[in-house]
Amino acid sequence: MRIAVVGAGVVGITTAHALHSDGHEVTVYERNGTVASETSFANAGLIAPGYVTPWAAPGMLRKVLSQLLQRDAAVRMATLPGLELAGWLWRWQRACGPVGYLQRRAAMISLAHDSLSRTRALTKDMEIDYENGRGMLVLLRGEKELAQARTGLKLLTDAKIDFHLVDAEKCRQIEPGLNDSMALRAGIHLPDTEVGNCRQFAMQLKHMLQERGVAFQLHHAVHRLSPGSKLELHATVHAETPGSGRDPEPEVHESFDAAIVCAANGAPDLLRSTRMRLPLQSVYGYSVTLPLRQFEAHPDVGPRAAIMDERFKVAIARLGDRVRVAGSAELGGDPLRIREAAVKTLYRVLDDWFPGAASHGQPQVWKGARPMLPDGPPAIGATGLPGLWLNTGHGSSGWALACGSARLVADLVAGRKPMLDPQPFSPTRWNR
Ligand SMILES: Cc1cc2nc3c(=O)[nH]c(=O)nc-3n(C[C@H](O)[C@H](O)[C@H](O)COP(=O)(O)OP(=O)(O)OC[C@H]3O[C@@H](n4cnc5c(N)ncnc54)[C@H](O)[C@@H]3O)c2cc1C
Repeated sequence: MRIAVVGAGVVGITTAHALHSDGHEVTVYERNGTVASETSFANAGLIAPGYVTPWAAPGMLRKVLSQLLQRDAAVRMATLPGLELAGWLWRWQRACGPVGYLQRRAAMISLAHDSLSRTRALTKDMEIDYENGRGMLVLLRGEKELAQARTGLKLLTDAKIDFHLVDAEKCRQIEPGLNDSMALRAGIHLPDTEVGNCRQFAMQLKHMLQERGVAFQLHHAVHRLSPGSKLELHATVHAETPGSGRDPEPEVHESFDAAIVCAANGAPDLLRSTRMRLPLQSVYGYSVTLPLRQFEAHPDVGPRAAIMDERFKVAIARLGDRVRVAGSAELGGDPLRIREAAVKTLYRVLDDWFPGAASHGQPQVWKGARPMLPDGPPAIGATGLPGLWLNTGHGSSGWALACGSARLVADLVAGRKPMLDPQPFSPTRWNR
């Protein structure tokens, strides 16, 4: 089949790879000039099946409300909600009840397990170097964090996640660079977890796909999809350099047998052209990436792999000779405005655990938008409109779920029975 993939983030690129492996002729459309330039640009890098979970969970509503006025709150409302956000919040709080949560969580974890093994196989097969490391250590600063974590351990056991509850001494053996003057009650070690540079992975995979015949139409903003016996795709071609005088912007129009929308935060607008409504909200977060200092006498500077500070919900990841700190969740507000308090929290957590490890000159400060559906799982599968498929809405776990989601949608397109039950991911689940 001739298939268009809309969106060249990590989800679109892995989807293109899965479809190309199945023998389809694939064209990828991307509105920006490079791939992985939106949410897949500088995420925390964790591929941690045990931590892939719906944001809509029992107790979440209370947790969010109690944090609203805290300075270091992990979750914030940046503005009073408008109509669309209010509708999303209503759906989200309804999904926070215990009914359905465990099934949705189990479905996401199964997809994440599958995705992790596919990511490993693909990177080995294609010799992709994505600055990866193995293992994640969840730091529990005090009794409160330990007590809260204990209640989640049964869920990890039920999900067959390999983990070990360890004392502070063991934490420092696993991560020798940890500041030993910081109070640390315990940790959860998840050895079968991966951390890696999502953007680097996506860029390398794109080059390899291009060499194998996948077409990439960069600077192409798709603005209309018309489903039918042939799916019609309409895009505007942007000038390479904004304001370079190529005016008016040319339009292109192509016919395909199918299109897979992997457009994340751009998906709701695009789908409106088909009258389909996708309840997706952008949940903003931040990361800071810094070079690690080199000390010959002290090689264990910074983390060895991934750390999660459970109190602040801040991740610290080693990516080659750099360290990335990421966290915060903001609903609403200006996508371009960097909130200094959120960035300060990232520096504070990094300095708590690895003081002096990173050079603070020329940091890469980034704000990204998690494409979040109200009940948690991404939307993967048929839309009910001829030739139109979705693989989008991966929220805070798109890197962890990309390779598995790509295989799932490719199997569904081919009419093959997928490895996993696709029902929890149905793009039409809100219409029932
Ligand atoms: C602070 C932060 C930390 C995170 N940490 C992790 C983590 O540790 N692990 C993890 O698994 N996930 C993490 N995530 C989430 C993860 O980054 C996302 O789920 C993932 O990148 C989504 O990938 P995507 O390809 O769907 O979206 P994107 O990377 O945003 O790609 C979508 C692409 O579609 C393009 N597009 C949109 N509309 C159109 C259109 N009309 N025409 C053409 N192109 C279009 C966009 O330009 C974009 O390139 C984090 C996110 C944030 C913000």
